[in-house]
Amino acid sequence: MSRFLAWPRFAPLPLTVKLTAVNVLLVLALAAVVLVAWRMLPAEADAAADVILLTNAQRSNQSADTLHDALRADVLSALLAGDAAGIAADTVRQSLRTHAGEFRAEINRLNKMPLKAEARQYVVEAYISALHFLALTERQVEVALADRKVALAEMPAYEMAFEEAKTAVTRQGDELARASEEVQAASRAAAEVAQRWLALAAAVTVLVGWACVALVARSIRRSLAALSEVAVAIAEGDLDRRSDVRAKDEVGQLAGSINQMADRLHEMIERTRRDADEGTFGRQLIEALEMADSEPRAHAVVARAMHEISGTHAMELLLADASNAQLERAAEHPEAGAPGCMVDAAFACVAVRRGHALQFPDSGALNACPSLRGRPEGARSAACVPVTFMGRALGVLHATGAVDAPLGAQQLAQLNTLGVQAGSRIGTVRAFERTQLQAATDSLTGLANRRTAEARMRRWEQEGRAFALVMCDLDHFKRLNDTHGHPAGDDALRSFAEVARGCARGTDLLARWGGEEFAFLLAGADGEEAMAWTTRLREQLAQTLRARSKPLFTASFGVAEAGSAPTLELLVRRADDALYRAKAEGRDRAVLAPPMPAADPDAPRATSEHSAVLDLQMLATADE
Ligand code: GH3
Ligand code: MG
Ligand code: MG
Repeated sequence: MSRFLAWPRFAPLPLTVKLTAVNVLLVLALAAVVLVAWRMLPAEADAAADVILLTNAQRSNQSADTLHDALRADVLSALLAGDAAGIAADTVRQSLRTHAGEFRAEINRLNKMPLKAEARQYVVEAYISALHFLALTERQVEVALADRKVALAEMPAYEMAFEEAKTAVTRQGDELARASEEVQAASRAAAEVAQRWLALAAAVTVLVGWACVALVARSIRRSLAALSEVAVAIAEGDLDRRSDVRAKDEVGQLAGSINQMADRLHEMIERTRRDADEGTFGRQLIEALEMADSEPRAHAVVARAMHEISGTHAMELLLADASNAQLERAAEHPEAGAPGCMVDAAFACVAVRRGHALQFPDSGALNACPSLRGRPEGARSAACVPVTFMGRALGVLHATGAVDAPLGAQQLAQLNTLGVQAGSRIGTVRAFERTQLQAATDSLTGLANRRTAEARMRRWEQEGRAFALVMCDLDHFKRLNDTHGHPAGDDALRSFAEVARGCARGTDLLARWGGEEFAFLLAGADGEEAMAWTTRLREQLAQTLRARSKPLFTASFGVAEAGSAPTLELLVRRADDALYRAKAEGRDRAVLAPPMPAADPDAPRATSEHSAVLDLQMLATADE
């Protein structure tokens, strides 16, 4: 039974179909009951008709029996007619006609009754003997009325016929009684069979009804129990749980609604989680970039952020150089490496030109970026995010992956965040470095300015590094200005700076001290080496000016070794004094400051227009 209840094709039917099926089955069962009753009714009716027929037959048999006696009485009356009894012959004839008519009617009725063969046999027999007896009676009456003696002589034969007829009627009566009992028994049996069938049909109807209702109730109950289990699981946080009730009925619709609700809930929570992750990523990225105080450090943060976005997608940061002409790789994914975009200039990149992120699901597609084609790794998916600062393109973030594994929505959002934040930081760092460079550089010559030179001296002194300080002043520069004009003077200053730069090493620091005066810090050099360096510089200057057909000018130098004075202020003053002496001795030469006397705090002061004394306040705030 339980297997029947679990009939798999029943459950998926709509509820209305199930209820209709139950109704149909109940109607069929009721129809069966009606049919059984219908079939039983004629049998009962037939039995009842047989009973009535036999009852009528018995009644006619009884009447016939009585009429036998009446007819015999008429014969006896005829024998007595005309005697003292005073019975008139007409009266006898009249009585005979009446009795004969009734007798004939009864035996005819009996003879015509549709009785069964067994009874019929006795009826026919009784009928024949009745007709014979009636004929004898009519003849015997006429004989008796005509001649009593003859009639008396024939009476024994008549009596015999009377007895035969009576016997036949009696046999017929017995047979009819037996047949009547038989028919009544059959009628009772038919009624019993009908009752049994009706009881059986009623039982089947009830059983079918119960089974149908149980099936429907069970299928609904099981579906609802399964649904309730799923709803509780979802409510407890199992958002991947779904109902597998697939029925098209109301329960199935409810299951669909619960699944839909779980889908929406899942989406919402995923979105919230993604937003939270995105927020965390963005916050951490901003904090990391804030700590990056130089462009290489910002590039390193970008590389680490690439790994945070995806461990498998190749990524690179391409940045335009100062001239904005060339895109150079500034950072790449630490594990997956760089995709190797071949775009050479920022504005050759489609994403940079359009000013927003672009995603290419398949580099082989017709509308994919042309730069993605022909890569050795074949067809790829790609994403490109422009990197900008204050509306100006700095470069592009480029990521690639397998065609069937492009960056997800969250990863793309993170790449966008990285593009925005990296652009902002790199732009800021560049602007800051540019400002710092401008603050530390002399705009005319491109050399460091005095502030930078003083800060460098302080640092080297703190670090205990050996160096030589060379103070320099161009000779008769006023005259050069007066003779060739101020622009020629500026040009001479630039030429001198260029020649000095050509003579220096990367570790040296060349600064314009002010006006036409310079300070050179020669790292690791002692006084003699610095003197030799000035000689090379003077020779190189003369050669260069001649080679370029520029107005000739010379320079004078004062050299002092670091450590030859107790303070930086004194060191500068000593170099300045040496320069003063070089001027005094005829210019176009260098003078090495002599070892400092033990007590010479008031040595002659420099007379140059730009005091070489260190600006201590400036030093305090200098930030090289
Ligand atoms: P000395 O050999 O004694 O140093 O003579 P000098 O003419 O070089 O010295 P002086 O102090 O008399 O003149 C320095 C001149 O340098 C004055 C000024 O016009 C010129 N000068 C200072 N700064 C600049 C500059 O930036 N450009 C130009 N063209 N000239 C400058
Ligand atoms: Mg001067
Ligand atoms: Mg001068």
